[in-house]
Amino acid sequence: MEKERDVIIVGAGPAGATAAAILAQQGHDILLLDRQSFPRDKICGDGIPNGVISIMNGLGMTEKVQAAEARGDFNPLSQVRLVSPKGHTVDAPLIDRNDGTKSYVAPRKVLDALIQEQAVESGADFRQAQAQEPIVENGKVVGVRAKVGSNGSTQTVDFRSKLVIGADGVTSVVARGLRPKEEQHVDGHRAVALRAYIEGIEEIPHTAEFYLYEEINPGYAWIFSLGNDRANIGLGMRLDQFRHTKRKLEDLLYEFLDMPDIKKRLKNGGNLRDIATWQLNFGSQKGLKFAFDGAMLVGDAAGFINPITGGGIHNGMISAELAAKTAHEALTAGNTSLSQLKIYQQRCQEHLYPSLRRSYRYQEILMRFPRLIDFLIRRGQENSQVAQIFLSKL
Ligand SMILES: Cc1cc2nc3c(=O)[nH]c(=O)nc-3n(C[C@H](O)[C@H](O)[C@H](O)COP(=O)(O)OP(=O)(O)OC[C@H]3O[C@@H](n4cnc5c(N)ncnc54)[C@H](O)[C@@H]3O)c2cc1C
Repeated sequence: MEKERDVIIVGAGPAGATAAAILAQQGHDILLLDRQSFPRDKICGDGIPNGVISIMNGLGMTEKVQAAEARGDFNPLSQVRLVSPKGHTVDAPLIDRNDGTKSYVAPRKVLDALIQEQAVESGADFRQAQAQEPIVENGKVVGVRAKVGSNGSTQTVDFRSKLVIGADGVTSVVARGLRPKEEQHVDGHRAVALRAYIEGIEEIPHTAEFYLYEEINPGYAWIFSLGNDRANIGLGMRLDQFRHTKRKLEDLLYEFLDMPDIKKRLKNGGNLRDIATWQLNFGSQKGLKFAFDGAMLVGDAAGFINPITGGGIHNGMISAELAAKTAHEALTAGNTSLSQLKIYQQRCQEHLYPSLRRSYRYQEILMRFPRLIDFLIRRGQENSQVAQIFLSKL
């Protein structure tokens, strides 16, 4: 029999591990579950905006971040390049936050393991287990049913807690168990993207490059510099539009690499590895629920990705902070029912929703009037604020 915990957090990605670290540091009894052991890969562009680093510093990770940069695992970013369909280019310097934090390109295998490690060092109890469904009794979530053990000797265990936080990413079983079907993400608020690592590319040092062009509008291709002729490379598209193209993302990637401006930068054709696709759920869809009786959803499980940039790590960690604050108040009050947790819904609406919704409106405009992209990037050559706005959405 497993003892009842204060909080079970399902998923130890940046959102889940952040919530776990905060709540464990406050002295709560936290069980952090993930179906994978760490370090593990997560399909991503690895673009880490400085807001993420600021939150990591708040968790007590300043030295870990500095050490990762010194080892060369975190490659600092100094500028963003935007390239329009007609080839107009704007380079915008990145402005450090007031607290001095930088943005990076950091492989998720490294980044996520550091935050998960911080959660464990803060006192969270980590277990490798694959959640199957939330346990609901009399309409209230009271725990999680999960499979533990490896091939051949798996067993199903009921883990019980006062509160459950679903942080199990875009395919969340916690969200699926709690949100009615009609409240789940529709194709117009989703994207699909492909990521690969490339070796043998003449990179633009410390630069995140974004290529916006018609075949993948609304969406973009990216090259994020990792140093030493290596980069994270990929492309993504809004799912409803992608379905119309009837193309494969991998073919679109090869076409991107074949563009003259990219091709001439490849050494011996470039060496691609770890090509993989994954989904993204935008935070712009109306009417999504994040708070339930006995449970909350954070990060990609809730769907907080920015529709224009595809960035979701920062929003995921902000939602984790909001959920941890709400959980702490609920545990202190001895009430983890929806009447207490519904403030989390309100906090997400205030802190995250307005900018996500705005980004979606911009995306709709750019989709309908693609020539605007050329116009804006040309304007950006004169006024780097346009590029700064794009970056601040990452
Ligand atoms: C191709 C691509 C490129 C992207 N590029 C960027 C970028 O450059 N910058 C950026 O900010 N964002 C980017 N994103 C979005 C970003 O990856 C996500 O927003 C971010 O990972 C969300 O973090 P999370 O902790 O909510 O979820 P995740 O990072 O997905 O973590 C979820 C965790 O839950 C675990 N899990 C899943 N199911 C279960 C289960 N049943 N039981 C137990 N554990 C489970 C998983 O193993 C995982 O560890 C990109 C996404 C894609 C697909």
